[in-house]
Amino acid sequence: MTQTMFTEPEERIALREAVAKLAGKYGREYVEKQAAEGGKTTELWQEMGANGFLGVNIAEEYGGGGGGMSDLAAVLEECAAAGAPLLMMVVSQAICGSIISRYGTEEQKQRWLPGIAEGAITMAFGITEADAGSNSHQITTTASRDGEEWVLKGQKTFISGVDEAQLVLIVARAEDAKTGKLKPCLFVVPTDAAGFSKQVIPMAWSAPEKQFTLFLDDVRLPADALVGDEDAGLVQLFAGLNPERIMGAAFSCGMAKFALDRAVEYAKVRTVWKAPIGTHQGIAHPLAKAKIELEQARLLWQKAAALYDAGDDFGAGEYANMAKYAGGEIACNATDVAVHTHGGNGLTVEYGLANMMVAARLGRIAPVSREMILNFVAMHSLGLPKSY
Ligand SMILES: Cc1cc2nc3c(=O)[nH]c(=O)nc-3n(C[C@H](O)[C@H](O)[C@H](O)COP(=O)(O)OP(=O)(O)OC[C@H]3O[C@@H](n4cnc5c(N)ncnc54)[C@H](O)[C@@H]3O)c2cc1C
Repeated sequence: MTQTMFTEPEERIALREAVAKLAGKYGREYVEKQAAEGGKTTELWQEMGANGFLGVNIAEEYGGGGGGMSDLAAVLEECAAAGAPLLMMVVSQAICGSIISRYGTEEQKQRWLPGIAEGAITMAFGITEADAGSNSHQITTTASRDGEEWVLKGQKTFISGVDEAQLVLIVARAEDAKTGKLKPCLFVVPTDAAGFSKQVIPMAWSAPEKQFTLFLDDVRLPADALVGDEDAGLVQLFAGLNPERIMGAAFSCGMAKFALDRAVEYAKVRTVWKAPIGTHQGIAHPLAKAKIELEQARLLWQKAAALYDAGDDFGAGEYANMAKYAGGEIACNATDVAVHTHGGNGLTVEYGLANMMVAARLGRIAPVSREMILNFVAMHSLGLPKSY
């Protein structure tokens, strides 16, 4: 009989400790200062890469750590829990790294994976379009053949970190030679390609990572910009989208832990009557509830990552969705409770929690919204009729 483990292996615990130490050296103050000054988290990113923490999921032969999504998500969770999350890990190492590792040619792996693992190459990921949103079957960015080359035309929106990226993995649609129907295909597009341009979208919270609308006006790409089989359909895409959801959940859990830790510290010392405010159940119970919900969400992403690492893509898909849902909820709830525990201080720039409360809502919206996850679970886990 195989054993069910609810503790992480010693190597991952050591990895967590090392990442927490490094990210803690930078912390929330560093990230906020960079955001306020229009800077990036470059020093942290580079130090994480130099220590081998960014590419833990990539095979050793391509310069990575030879671990899995469980390791990568643990790294991101620790960064977020230290107040210094690295959003681009979700796209570059998790989505793009996973898709290229599984479906890239040997030449593509050699070209891109070592740089992604080290952090020298940042690859953004573009699927969302303004008129498609949650329904990615509606995307209209098209790829047409012109001799040996591909020509991409279309627009993308809310694409993270394009100003920090040398490349973007774009989901476009190519015409099927046999049926004439459009099918999803993945292309690596250099951000300095002719016909490629970007426009920043001002967002309501302060963060070093920016979001962009992308314009692809007849961007010409060589034949080997196509990753994977052009007839594979959605399978290749989900090799990246399940890791994205697992990482989204880990990011949210780390953020929730950061907010909860700050709130607990504050509740222990802030005294306005005879005893610290944490003595009152009106303060203690919401914190205890957040702790329970955080541990539930963490178990879900750990299970999703374990299934993904074991090669069970179907099981990973179900649990990655549920984990992303639970992560988004606890990030919103924990940051809300943390703000409330801090009273007026919770709304100050100095404490940074109100900014985090807005940022936490990202976990409910992206990469797939709470409602689309509920649709998925209702239909696939419970067998209810499709509602949309
Ligand atoms: C900060 C940020 C970073 C992002 N980074 C990236 C990135 O790097 N790359 C990328 O490709 N995309 C990125 N996205 C896009 C993100 O994945 C989308 O915002 C998300 O998929 C939702 O799409 P939408 O915003 O168009 O919302 P819509 O699809 O317009 O949905 C609006 C609302 O309607 C609800 N809704 C829609 N359909 C249904 C339904 N059938 N049943 C019930 N409710 C429904 C949704 O749940 C949501 O609440 C990012 C978004 C943000 C905010």
